[in-house]
Amino acid sequence: MRNVLFIVSGPSGAGKGTLVKALMQGRRDLWLSVSLTTRAPRRGEKHGEAYYFVTKEEFEQRIARGEFLEYNNHFENYYGTLLSDVMRELQTRSVILEIEPMGGFQAAEKIRAMGKYPVVLIMITPPSLHALEERINHRGKESAEQMRERRERVAFELAQADRYDYSVLNDDLDTAIGELRAIIDKEINKE
Ligand code: 5GP
Repeated sequence: MRNVLFIVSGPSGAGKGTLVKALMQGRRDLWLSVSLTTRAPRRGEKHGEAYYFVTKEEFEQRIARGEFLEYNNHFENYYGTLLSDVMRELQTRSVILEIEPMGGFQAAEKIRAMGKYPVVLIMITPPSLHALEERINHRGKESAEQMRERRERVAFELAQADRYDYSVLNDDLDTAIGELRAIIDKEINKE
């Protein structure tokens, strides 16, 4: 048994939230990290569940105090993972961060540098990405410029995927949950 830091990322619309929620059912050996964000809560979101909602001032004070394992500023808001939470939980169980790739790489680098806990990067890909590739390769109806843009976006996604240990295609939800579970269990049970 190992305590592993799992970092789950993927383009928006890939359904990672749903997958991770399903994965967490009945798992006391896994802890899902709760991030801090400066974005406003959406309808039904409670403080301390999906996020801790904080002000920009508080977030920036915490950055200055070095409290984050990783953070990023995207969609005009800060999002970050507290180092103390992750280190506390890793002492007793595996931890899951559901965060975007840039923050994920920061976190992976820091934890790997400590040399104490293994890090596993998992990318969740939406079926639309594959459909997009198909379209680019097999159809010629778009302008050269449009095709170039699409290719660049796919290339970017794939370049990120290269840096991941696993990728799970979220086409059929049950299949994807099964795959994710198998990856997590295999990694936790490695010698
Ligand atoms: P949303 O605002 O839709 O909840 O999340 C927007 C993006 O922020 C998603 O890609 C989500 O994975 C990412 N995110 C959530 N928490 C964190 C975090 O702590 N750090 C980073 N870097 N990204 C996060």
